[in-house]
Amino acid sequence: MPDVMDAVVNLCKRRGFIFPSAEIYGGFRSAYDYGPLGSLMLRNVKNAWWRSMVQLRDDVVGLDASILSPAAIWEASGHLATFTDPLVDCRNCKERFRADHLKSLDVCPNCGNKGTLTEARNFNLMFKTNVGPVEDSASVAYLRPETAQGMFVNFKNVMETSRKKPPFGIAQIGKSFRNEITPGNFVFRTREFEQMELEFFVPPAEGPQWFEYWVNERLQWYVDLGIPKDKLMLRPHDPDELSHYSAGTTDVEFLFPFGWGELEGIAQRTDYDLKKHAEHSGQPLEYFDQASGEKYVPYVIEPAAGATRSMMAFLIAAFDEDEVNGEKRSLLRLHPRLAPYQVAVLPLSKNDQLVPPAREVLSLLQPHWQCDYDQTQNIGRRYRRQDEIGTPLCVTVDFDSLEDRAVTIRDRDTLEQVRVPIAGLVDEVRGRLGF
Ligand code: ATP
Repeated sequence: MPDVMDAVVNLCKRRGFIFPSAEIYGGFRSAYDYGPLGSLMLRNVKNAWWRSMVQLRDDVVGLDASILSPAAIWEASGHLATFTDPLVDCRNCKERFRADHLKSLDVCPNCGNKGTLTEARNFNLMFKTNVGPVEDSASVAYLRPETAQGMFVNFKNVMETSRKKPPFGIAQIGKSFRNEITPGNFVFRTREFEQMELEFFVPPAEGPQWFEYWVNERLQWYVDLGIPKDKLMLRPHDPDELSHYSAGTTDVEFLFPFGWGELEGIAQRTDYDLKKHAEHSGQPLEYFDQASGEKYVPYVIEPAAGATRSMMAFLIAAFDEDEVNGEKRSLLRLHPRLAPYQVAVLPLSKNDQLVPPAREVLSLLQPHWQCDYDQTQNIGRRYRRQDEIGTPLCVTVDFDSLEDRAVTIRDRDTLEQVRVPIAGLVDEVRGRLGF
């Protein structure tokens, strides 16, 4: 087995999952572009999250809030004052480090010099910009460093329009921006990334039970989508690493090739955010329970996941190599919901007689699943290409198909091949994919 990290990074580039950004200009450090297959897979990760968090529940509604946001939000949330990392410079080699990531503050891990590291100073991670033509303090705006605040500032709007009452949640998927001091490990830590966050508002007394519920629920989501249990763990935060808003956080961690890393944090944000926004905006952000006549500020449980970071974990967990007929095969054992293509339609050859029925099969499948169509090269190579990008099923149209109106389905994982009538193909594929 090669170094899995190198193999996945290489596959991502070679097959069009993830490209280094602005490559023709020499690249733009730690920014990435999602290519034809990567954009499909990232969308699938987000859809799988949305399906489980919104579609399959009746107590969560969606939101898509603005990325560009006024200073007032970040003043109230505490991010302007405390969303910082401790930054250390090396006076010799000029490299920068996060003090909390260094083993020792005496020796520079880059150049090895002793005593050249500066004292740690706090560095705010938010990207600041100006809106409008005048660059003054009134025009200062920020790119959101988390999607969560969009849910808090819209709490009243959402509660009133959706007629939900606690316990209920607001879910959002979108880009967040952090001026990370040490981005790296491919898309694990980037300055622009995508988050999938739920703010779940509950009666204060129910906080602990809902926290436990969401920790288990979120761990199971990764397992259901194919990450082996032994590569996942729950890690409760020590009191000294808790964020400024949290009364308790547990991370879901994945065993990356470079060690355990966080995929998601489930935090008890208590009533911190709603109270801060009520105080700063002068607008009450409470729930009035007509039945009991009780008014209260809900507590919040927040499962906050990274879409781009979990896509990387799904790729790493799915990467595998085996041998087929004495030949090495590299494949992605991706869950069918996450694979860029669910089905590939392959005419046995480019022969003119095979193309029309193959196209007919393609248009039968396309309304239901994302399909690839490939008629170049020999069939063995085309199977291997689909294996390498994680396509669960290949459907082959051959000369017999012209007579028997049937096709062959080949399974990526078992390599099983079965003959299926075209008339029953959609049902057969649905049964095999599970959706
Ligand atoms: P870290 O400790 O790794 O900096 P964090 O604890 O600050 O992360 P949260 O604020 O809890 O992260 O964000 C929730 C999720 O968003 C993380 O679990 C991760 O999946 C994702 N995320 C956070 N920062 C980044 C980043 N710079 N690049 C990619 N994903 C990120």
